Order: sequence, then structure tokens, then C-alpha cells
Amino acid sequence: MYQDTIAAISTPLGEGGIGIVRLSGGDAATIAAKVFTRHLSNRRLVYGHIIDPATNEVIDEVLVAYMATPHTYTREDVVEINCHGGPLPLQRILELVLRYGARLANPGEFTLRAFLNGRIDLAQAESVLDIVRAKTAASLRLAVDGLGGRLSQALKEVRSQLMGVLAYLTARIDFPEDEVEEQEVIPKLENAREQLRELISSAEAGVVYRHGVRTAIVGRTNVGKSSLLNRLLRQSRAIVTDIPGTTRDTLEEVVNIKGVPFVLIDTAGIVQSKDLVESLGIERSRKAIEQADFILFVIDASEPLRNADRDIIHLLSQKEVLMAANKSDLPPKADLDNLPWPKVSISALTGAGLVELEQRMVERVLGGKVFASDALLVSNPRHKSALERAQSHLEQALADIEAQVPDDFVTIDLTAALNALGEITGETVTDELLETIFSNFCIGK
Ligand code: GDP
Repeated sequence: MYQDTIAAISTPLGEGGIGIVRLSGGDAATIAAKVFTRHLSNRRLVYGHIIDPATNEVIDEVLVAYMATPHTYTREDVVEINCHGGPLPLQRILELVLRYGARLANPGEFTLRAFLNGRIDLAQAESVLDIVRAKTAASLRLAVDGLGGRLSQALKEVRSQLMGVLAYLTARIDFPEDEVEEQEVIPKLENAREQLRELISSAEAGVVYRHGVRTAIVGRTNVGKSSLLNRLLRQSRAIVTDIPGTTRDTLEEVVNIKGVPFVLIDTAGIVQSKDLVESLGIERSRKAIEQADFILFVIDASEPLRNADRDIIHLLSQKEVLMAANKSDLPPKADLDNLPWPKVSISALTGAGLVELEQRMVERVLGGKVFASDALLVSNPRHKSALERAQSHLEQALADIEAQVPDDFVTIDLTAALNALGEITGETVTDELLETIFSNFCIGK
């Protein structure tokens, strides 16, 4: 266990009703007692004031929760000071507890301690971050599943099968002259391989739910991009939030379509480009297309294709494209049969075809797969790559057994497969990896 006590502001900075300064560690209660006017009481919310003992100045009126080890978030003593949610009270209270012996927490350190103290495993710890960042109800469900340990449980079963086989082979190597009862090794390994295969094949969809799909709506001017955008935004019942874009200065809008977060790129460009000369419009489209994983290509089906359409078509090779043939309320004039992408006829004006468009968008990004709403999906790329490594070691082990290679070689691959699986839940993990994972958290989590 860690000896020092950490502290951080655990609520977002900015003005709000309540803000929380959280402490965790052996001295959490002692430190809090120095700056709080009342006695702390385990699992009670106590009303009082935070004062600066050096000057007796009252900093804020607060409620303080003290939770004694081990039934806490980190398994250590935890104190949460609920103060008013302004940057100043929060900063001053944090400064005080730091002055009286706490250390400023690193990003994700509360959750890291929960992991190091054995309350949750690594996959569960990572789910905390996914819960905080979930963009739709479906991505939230996946994350909450993860925190509940659903993936960890499935992996435990695979691991125990592999471990059984490994123990048996090792016994056979170590005590060749003894009677080690003969076991069927291959069916067990094949079974484990099948389970891994299912998990890996769920990962593509899992990652889509977790991160969303970066989507660009492109097309020349006047084909109906903004009309379509407005429809998608209006129909997506939970218009999620505006999240800060990965590119500078942009806000991205997220539309929730059947639980899949479509992160729309450069929606500002769609609205503004009308005032810009066409060449600038193309330049913007090119950038949006480059950044996108998925393209909704809007065409005005009531007119023959123009050069401006063709300019965009040239930018679309190598991309995942769905064509929205718009203005289906007018007589069709465009010849789209030679274009290589699937097409849905819609009218952004009347709303015709919108349901089908949404359906096809989801199918296209989930690779045509359909998942039960409670399916276990691997949604973390780190987990996926560890599963793939485990899978390939397992394949090697099976191939070696078939080829009647000595048991020593088989056990090497089985051990490697077990280690790869252990990386997911954190049984076998390096400090470096831990650092990378938790550096994605914000301070206070
Ligand atoms: P953008 O330049 O691609 O964003 O196109 P807009 O959404 O601004 O639409 C251009 C024009 O086409 C507007 O006058 C729209 O009202 C009209 N429009 C958009 N969608 C449809 C449609 O489905 N049918 C018809 N008849 N007109 C449409």
C-alpha cells in the first residue's frame, strides 16, 4: 500500500453548485481534521467550516464525508470535502490540505490506487474512464459492464482452462516416469481459442460504440448537406454534447444513431461553405474526408452529376462511403449506377428514407454485424491487441501439439498466451503500461 496521502479537486473546474476536494491515504482524516471545524465521523456527512489554521480565516461552509478503509473507492481512508463549486474555494481548500501534508494526486491516481490495492482489476479501472467519456447510452452500458467486471469474468474462464492445460503439461515434463493421468488437451485449447475468437470479433463494434465514428458529410453546394445535417441532429433524440474536437478550435457534434455515436466533423464547414468560393469548399471537404473514418456522401439526385460532384468523388477512394441520394421528392436525373458505394434514396425536405439511411449508417460502421443489446463487446483497443496476441500464441501451441513437438515448446506458448491475457486484467503488467493507461485520466479521478 502507498504511504502518502493524495489530494485533488475531483469535480470539473468552473462554477457549479458543489465542488469536491478528495483525499485518500493514511493521513486523510488527520489532515482534514486540521482544517475543519468539526469532528469527522465515519460514513457520516458532517456540516462545518473549512478554516485556515494560520489565520483563522473561514474559507467556506462545507459538508465533509469521511470513509474509513477498506470500504472506499481506493480501499484507503478517503475524505471528501463538499464545498461551493467555484474555482476559488476549491483551490484554497486544496492548497490548505497540501500545506498540511497531502500531495497533489497524479492523473487517475485515485483509480490507480483502487487497482493497486486490489479493489478492481485493470480492465475495470479503464472502464471508469470510459464511463466518464461515454457518449451514448449504449457506450455507457458497455463501460458499466466493464466496471462490473464482465470482461474480466470471461477472461478468467479462458485463463483457467489454459492454466489447467499448462499445469498438466508441466507435470508431464517434470515427472515423466510417474503416471500422470492422460488428459484431452486439444479440445480444451480449441474451446479457449473459440472464446477468444468471439471476443476479438466483437471488438470492431465495441470500439465503434466506445469512441464513436468520425463522420464527414460531404457533397458540393446545394445538394442538401445542411438540410440533412439538421434532420439528423433533430431526430437523434439524445443529441449528446458538444465535445472539444481533437483538432484545434473546433467543436464536434455527436449524433446518436441507435446507440452508435457518430462524431460529425467540420459541421461548421457545412453551414459556412455556402458563402465561400467553390475551391475553398473543396479544400474543406478534402480535410474533412482525410480525418473521417466514415463518409456520408450527399448527391442531388434530381440533377445530372456535375464536375463539382466528380471533384469530390475523386477524393473518396479508399474510404468507407455511404451515398445519400437526396431530393427523392423530385424526378430523378442523376445516374449513380457507376459509383461503387451503397446508396440510400432520401429527401431531406420531406424526411423520406431517413430511417433507412440511419439503419444503413449503423450497419456500415458495424461491419454488417448485429449484436444483442446485452452482448459482451470488447471496446478497448488495448484489450483487443492483447487478445490477438493471446490468440496467436494459442494457435502456435495447437500447431505444435499437432506436429508432436515436445511439451516444453508448447508450454512456452501457453505461458505467453496467459501473460497476454493477464495484461488485460493487470495480473501481468509493467509499470510503464500502467503509467500510459492512467495518464489518460484527469486529475482527481
Ligand atoms: P448544402 O449547400 O449542401 O448544405 O444544401 P442545403 O441543405 O442548403 O440545400 C440546398 C437547397 O436544396 C435548399 O434550398 C434546400 O431547401 C433544398 N433541399 C434540400 N434537400 C432537399 C430535398 O430533399 N428536396 C428538395 N426538393 N429540396 C431540398
